[in-house]
Amino acid sequence: MTIYHDILKQYWGYEDFRELQLEIIESVAAGKDTLGLMPTGGGKSLTFQVPALAMEGICLVITPLIALMRDQVERLKSMDIRAACLHSGMTRQEIQIVLDNCLYGDFKFLYVSPERLGSDLFLQRALGLPVNLLVVDEAHCISQWGYDFRPSYLNIARVREYFPSIPVLALTATATPEVVEDIQDKLHFAAPNVFKVSFERKNLAYVVRETQDKDKALLQVLKGVDGTSIVYVRNRAKTKQIANFLKGEGVEAAHFHAGLNDQTKQERQAAWKNGTCRVIVATNAFGMGIDKPDVRTVIHMDLPDSLEAYFQEAGRAGRDGQKSYAVLLYHKSDSTLLKKRLSDNFPNKKYIHKVYEALGNYYQLAVGSGQGMNFPFDLQDFCGKFHLNMLQAYNGLKILELAGYLELTDEQDSTSRLYFLSSREDLYHLPRSGNKTDRVLQVLLRSYTGLFSDFVRIQEEVLASRLQMTGEEVYESLLYLSRQGVIHYIPRKKTPFICYTQSREESERLHIGPEVYEERKKRYVERIQAMQAYAAEDQPCRSKRLLQYFGQKRVSNCRQCDVCLRKQQEGLRQYEFEDISRDMLAALENSNPDLEELIDSLPYDSNKSLKVFRFLCDRGDIVQREHRIFRKTD
Ligand code: ADP
Repeated sequence: MTIYHDILKQYWGYEDFRELQLEIIESVAAGKDTLGLMPTGGGKSLTFQVPALAMEGICLVITPLIALMRDQVERLKSMDIRAACLHSGMTRQEIQIVLDNCLYGDFKFLYVSPERLGSDLFLQRALGLPVNLLVVDEAHCISQWGYDFRPSYLNIARVREYFPSIPVLALTATATPEVVEDIQDKLHFAAPNVFKVSFERKNLAYVVRETQDKDKALLQVLKGVDGTSIVYVRNRAKTKQIANFLKGEGVEAAHFHAGLNDQTKQERQAAWKNGTCRVIVATNAFGMGIDKPDVRTVIHMDLPDSLEAYFQEAGRAGRDGQKSYAVLLYHKSDSTLLKKRLSDNFPNKKYIHKVYEALGNYYQLAVGSGQGMNFPFDLQDFCGKFHLNMLQAYNGLKILELAGYLELTDEQDSTSRLYFLSSREDLYHLPRSGNKTDRVLQVLLRSYTGLFSDFVRIQEEVLASRLQMTGEEVYESLLYLSRQGVIHYIPRKKTPFICYTQSREESERLHIGPEVYEERKKRYVERIQAMQAYAAEDQPCRSKRLLQYFGQKRVSNCRQCDVCLRKQQEGLRQYEFEDISRDMLAALENSNPDLEELIDSLPYDSNKSLKVFRFLCDRGDIVQREHRIFRKTD
């Protein structure tokens, strides 16, 4: 038993670590830079939370998803561990408060979104923090070669320089061998040090089904396998359409995408999680941070952009270890759609220049001005005014972001925040009028704690229902209190922002280098080709292809994907296959014949025996060395 076991038991109530968790913990505790690769749900959070609790000081966690960040902070707080977060939607004042709390309040965890790391305010103040460990979650985002590169991750290298003697722990659930190298390089690892949990999912059968009629195939899968399901589609409209189709066929279903309002999202998620709704039909906005162990099927109606994305999404099935299915429904025309995505994702450079020019005009910025300026951004309005294709314009802006001209913050902050400027004492002295504002104030104080020391997230609708008022009335009252200087109120924002990181250039002089365009485009093509090959080819074993793609060596066939099952049965009845393979393995128990001797020794048709022989070889049950055949014992 180690001190880490004690912490695990004390805070989480778990008896033992999962595969490689303890090894990763001990590695960082020994001060080594460490890269941990674990499939989603493998338990990455504990690998930094446990050692950080054993150390003095504060653990800095860099993670890109605000919702996940909040979730983890709440979970830690519920265990009486002090934790806070900093992300892009926050004001300067909020940031100051959080950093003060961290400095003087014995906080153990500070979660930071990567954009925040670049700000001088953060860097100046963070330097004073007693940081004990730097954690980089979703570490593949630092690699240009990864499928989800985020330029803000490059700020991490700067933070590293501030804390040269603090170990870094990088964590990810997907990384090809090339990305594994790149992560260690970009984070300046003192020495290579990787822990990799096998990505093999023994209880998950991967299946590709080529079909002309995906709706029908979907229904067949859902009728064939009971239990909870996630159905992934590419666009928002389709989520609703498929959910309606399923409901019409008597399957309990709901749709989900990022455009729904928060309350609807929460309700649908909760209904699916507690089993009242069996199937959720969603875009890829669904699933991150959702920890439901008994998902029996994950069905893709469209091809994702990469095997990395596919593996992540499909991997949400069967976390409880029970037999589950990851089904990809494929039609030949899907390949054409993939190619279309290439031109959407990489509009030609001339087009990108045009988008840049239009943006400058949209904000009426003169060439040479604008640096550091922020503007609310409405993509639809922008594209409408300048006759641009929304998808291509959006991706053009993303490329301009990579090239360093601007930043596009599209994560919207959908909760309001509030902080009391008056002390509790002062409030007692406020005249009691019994009017709306007064009632709002009272309910506010009763509903939330911590309002005097930090910004607290509030929901106007919740207050409204307690007060039997409308959300609008609560909003008005809060604005009034804010104008009176009683509270600092930040209503939720719904618009994304654009920030000019450089002054506006002449558009002919824009430089969009190969590292942000040609090379990325090439990798994108490689990724969609790998996805396409997975869907269209009926060799090799699906699990093997995925694992090899992620650099796992020595993988055997899974025996349960559509490829393995087809092979198993090709020309042979199941009982024939079983009889022959049993006798063949028995014949190899005590001797190592050559192929001819082996086939002759069996009382079956030699063609059939040969088929079984090949199958067992493929599966890795038997091996042929220098013409002799051996049974694999392990
Ligand atoms: P990841 O970040 O790798 O997707 P999480 O850290 O969110 O995974 O962990 C997934 C789930 O597994 C969580 O509910 C967590 O509490 C649980 N878990 C992690 N480690 C253990 C363990 N050693 N024993 C039991 N449950 C664990």
